[in-house]
Amino acid sequence: DVTLRLNGLTKTYLKGTPGEVQVLRGADLELRAGEAVALVAPSGAGKSTLLHIAGLLDTPDVGTLEIAGQDATGKGDRTRTAIRRRDVGFVYQFHHLLPEFSALENVALPQLANGVAERAAEARAMDLLSRVGVAERARHRPAELSGGEQQRVAFCRALANSPRILLADEPTGNLDPGTSDQVFDALMSLVKDTGLSALIATHNLDLAARMDRVIRLEGGMLRPAE
Ligand code: ADP
Ligand code: ADP
Repeated sequence: DVTLRLNGLTKTYLKGTPGEVQVLRGADLELRAGEAVALVAPSGAGKSTLLHIAGLLDTPDVGTLEIAGQDATGKGDRTRTAIRRRDVGFVYQFHHLLPEFSALENVALPQLANGVAERAAEARAMDLLSRVGVAERARHRPAELSGGEQQRVAFCRALANSPRILLADEPTGNLDPGTSDQVFDALMSLVKDTGLSALIATHNLDLAARMDRVIRLEGGMLRPAE
């Protein structure tokens, strides 16, 4: 059961100019349901580019991609947006929660946007928040939460609409090492509970080693790490 399939992706920025940079040169990847895969690469190697293409925020020059069994290659903006809203969750290094809303509201809002009724959306939000240990902070705004709590809420928001894949770019990169480990564990347990596939870019090799497998992005291609 493959939830994300990338084949032969290439991407070049500023083609034909002196600043031309070929970031992807035939990247292939398959994520199976329920697995958490670490994406490790030096800074500037193209991790963000790869995650943006995988999440349909950017397009490759060449190559195909399939999300949750649906071919997303060459589709128009409306189709890409629909697939992204239904099947993809994103987490970044910074939480990007809405400051005027409570933790609960931040997790409920994406569901309301997808047509879920308010009471059901809040119940699911509360369930997600309790699974990562922040239920008692549900009524607080982001500024009233610690960095670790903010990231836990951001994970819940990313998973609010039950996506099939989670794409994360240094999700604990902004936290101190002790907090980072605990917050990472919370993310892993959410991934394992929900059975989604996660592709998690990280510089932290200890965290990478705790995932199901490690993939390196090097020379524009993806290879299993040693
Ligand atoms: P990473 O996330 O691994 O640091 P990025 O995907 O952000 O790498 O960037 C890969 C390379 O592509 C870098 O050399 C970066 O400067 C370049 N790059 C990224 N986005 C653009 C863009 N929009 N235009 C031109 N060059 C870009
Ligand atoms: P950490 O050491 O994990 O970053 P903090 O020391 O920042 O945590 O916060 C400890 C506790 O205090 C957490 O439960 C956090 O939610 C709460 N807290 C932090 N800042 C505020 C604030 N401005 N208002 C209310 N509660 C806060």
